[in-house]
Amino acid sequence: VPSLTPTDRTRLRRKPDRGRFDATTVEAILDEALVCHLGFVVDGRPIVLPTTFARVSDAVYVHGAAGNAALRALAAGAEVCCTVTLLDGLVLARSAFHHSMNYRSVLLFATAVPVTDDDEKTTALFAILDRMVAGRSAACRPPTPAELRATLVLRLPIDEGSAKVRTGGPIDDPEDMDGPYWAGVIPLTTVRGDPVEDSPAP
Ligand SMILES: Cc1cc2nc3c(=O)[nH]c(=O)nc-3n(C[C@H](O)[C@H](O)[C@H](O)COP(=O)(O)OP(=O)(O)OC[C@H]3O[C@@H](n4cnc5c(N)ncnc54)[C@H](O)[C@@H]3O)c2cc1C
Repeated sequence: VPSLTPTDRTRLRRKPDRGRFDATTVEAILDEALVCHLGFVVDGRPIVLPTTFARVSDAVYVHGAAGNAALRALAAGAEVCCTVTLLDGLVLARSAFHHSMNYRSVLLFATAVPVTDDDEKTTALFAILDRMVAGRSAACRPPTPAELRATLVLRLPIDEGSAKVRTGGPIDDPEDMDGPYWAGVIPLTTVRGDPVEDSPAP
């Protein structure tokens, strides 16, 4: 991913010091998250679709059933805003007003391109599997040609977007600092549990 250049719509106006456009930050957020949200307009109405994704080089890939109406609208050239959010903590301030969250997020503006090349399609689909568990694409039955045809894969080029990062404790007003209220951060992490093996029906 090349570093992003701020544009009129991606330059942060609110808390601009939290804005990040460097490739390292953007890639790290995209490569840690398992879910993105695709916001776009279908038939004049907004829809925000949560979905899995994977970054490969300088593109984000998403997939779905070829019959998925929303994804088909995207494939037809609708503009999309793709957001990715990692939640790192709940920030409890002394004042109700200054409560916040620690997070790392990325927002991308793009026009999706349907992937027709089978090699690119397979690479994208395997990347999505390998994001779930490293090496998973080589540890399961590969897709058949019919399964590949039944799967719509879209490429979202990463060329316009921004990241935003909040870290640290609450930022209270000086007059609240000596008050009686507890303040601090409750860290949040996503933890993988112990695998539970599926067993074939007897
Ligand atoms: C988990 C979480 C919880 C949040 N909770 C709240 C809340 O309760 N209330 C609230 O007002 N805000 C919240 N935010 C921040 C929110 O995402 C916006 O940044 C904020 O509302 C400012 O919006 P704006 O339209 O004024 O931003 P502007 O700075 O005007 O936005 C301009 C451009 O900056 C970029 N940008 C803005 N926000 C983000 C972002 N989060 N990630 C990447 N790029 C961004 C985009 O490219 C956008 O087009 C939260 C963010 C996260 C990740």
